Amino acid sequence: MALKTSEEYAARLARMRPNVYAHGKKIRRDDPMLEMPINTLKFTFDAVNDPELKDLLVTESHLTGEPINRFCSLNMSIDDLYKQQDMKRRCCHRVGGCTQRCMATDTLNAIGVVTKEIDDARGTGYFDHFIEFLKYYQANDLVGSTAMTDAKGDRLRRPSQQHDPDLYLHVVEKNDKGIVVKGAKNHITMGPYVDEHLVIPTRAMKEDDADWAVSFAIPADAENIKIISRVVSARPRIELDAPYNTFGVADSVVVFDNVFVPWERVFMCGEWQFAGRLAQVFAGQHRHSYCGCKPAITDIVLGTAALAAEYNGVEKSSHIVDELTELMIIAELIFASGIAAAARAQKTSSGIYTPEFLYSNTGRYFAGINIYHEYDVLNSIAGGLPSTIPPEADWLNPETGPDLEKYISRGAKIPAEKLHRLFRFISDFTCSAMAGWSQYAGVHGGGSPVMEKIGVRAGYDLESKKKIAKHLAGIKD
Ligand SMILES: Cc1cc2nc3c(=O)[nH]c(=O)nc-3n(C[C@H](O)[C@H](O)[C@H](O)COP(=O)(O)OP(=O)(O)OC[C@H]3O[C@@H](n4cnc5c(N)ncnc54)[C@H](O)[C@@H]3O)c2cc1C
Repeated sequence: MALKTSEEYAARLARMRPNVYAHGKKIRRDDPMLEMPINTLKFTFDAVNDPELKDLLVTESHLTGEPINRFCSLNMSIDDLYKQQDMKRRCCHRVGGCTQRCMATDTLNAIGVVTKEIDDARGTGYFDHFIEFLKYYQANDLVGSTAMTDAKGDRLRRPSQQHDPDLYLHVVEKNDKGIVVKGAKNHITMGPYVDEHLVIPTRAMKEDDADWAVSFAIPADAENIKIISRVVSARPRIELDAPYNTFGVADSVVVFDNVFVPWERVFMCGEWQFAGRLAQVFAGQHRHSYCGCKPAITDIVLGTAALAAEYNGVEKSSHIVDELTELMIIAELIFASGIAAAARAQKTSSGIYTPEFLYSNTGRYFAGINIYHEYDVLNSIAGGLPSTIPPEADWLNPETGPDLEKYISRGAKIPAEKLHRLFRFISDFTCSAMAGWSQYAGVHGGGSPVMEKIGVRAGYDLESKKKIAKHLAGIKD
């Protein structure tokens, strides 16, 4: 059975070699510090049995015909891309933010596309390595990281030009059994609770950079891998349980200190001409994912702002209606970019469909530049209470609770508990460590807005626009 339970996932994490460091100490993967981040991933396993989600979450492996989790699947049709986008939007609603698992889906798709292209051009055998790995990944319902972003050193220098070669992950040895790699990948989400790291290059390269053009999959607890993590969890509640307060996330520096990778897990080694292509195909896939998940964040902001306005009795005020309408437009324009990217997707030689790069980039760019504005709207409508609300313990204290209940009152018909729950949620969602994480992820995850601008310009036919202007102005060359 290729669909595993969340308990099976947690149990296999607990069996892994401890190589995770967090907040100053070495921890096992069943450490309570990781409970909330792991809950987020557990949701993606449980959702296959959720009547409202299972039709999106469960799909068929195109390799074996077995039912698998869509997070482990390849996009073998345009319909798959539509379903990916819908799945991300609906799942993010449930966890109140990033479900995290889509990164590996996008990386698997990108590796599938580019290994086939390398084989077609060079007669290598990377695509077969990838397919064998994918069968194993799907059969075990694995969770992978995307280990793409290198330390990068001086941003304007290529890997071979850096003062320290390890600032980009590179190959230090090749032998008949495999390769040995050294370097680190930064910002790696889910690092402490993935089964596998999926490593891909972060940029285009030139001939001198051939040793840095490397891609592979490696068990997260393999020898000589160290995962240094920063854990962020929603604020725990005492009695006022809420779904949002059960989730979290962890990002990490993943250090590869002479790590051996057997050939059958290597997907690129030295083919520098394809490094940029792999980075770009991943970016296109992942920015398409953002066209599903970012509208979900806007939906949460929008719904929460609308509820706060309703409870405050100002929902019909014209400035509120106007601001909420703007949020609706932001969410739906980003989503529409994703639909356009799927509708114009290209079938690659591997059979995998890649979303149209232009529209993935326009959607992701628009999401990135609006994220702080969206929080601004919610902040403005909610008023100051989310930042000043007394701790839950003071609501539970019989000496102070009744005062707090009395003075949170809005209209007579709205019970104090509903107000307490809403404003405490807004506090956790906008004014906490999780909020800060989510805002930074909203700007930089999948590539900073400047990278999407580069993506838009890269293939854009500006000359054809000049021709239009020349035609209308009567200019003849
Ligand atoms: C919450 C979060 C989660 C993430 N998760 C992952 C993950 O799981 N896996 C992963 O691989 N990555 C992940 N990332 C990394 C993300 O893709 C990068 O943060 C992003 O690509 C920007 O890279 P950087 O942070 O190194 O910033 P920098 O490269 O330092 O860029 C900062 C700014 O410098 C400027 N700049 C940078 N390079 C150039 C240049 N060559 N020319 C001109 N200007 C330049 C731009 O203005 C840019 O916005 C995550 C990031 C965040 C914030």
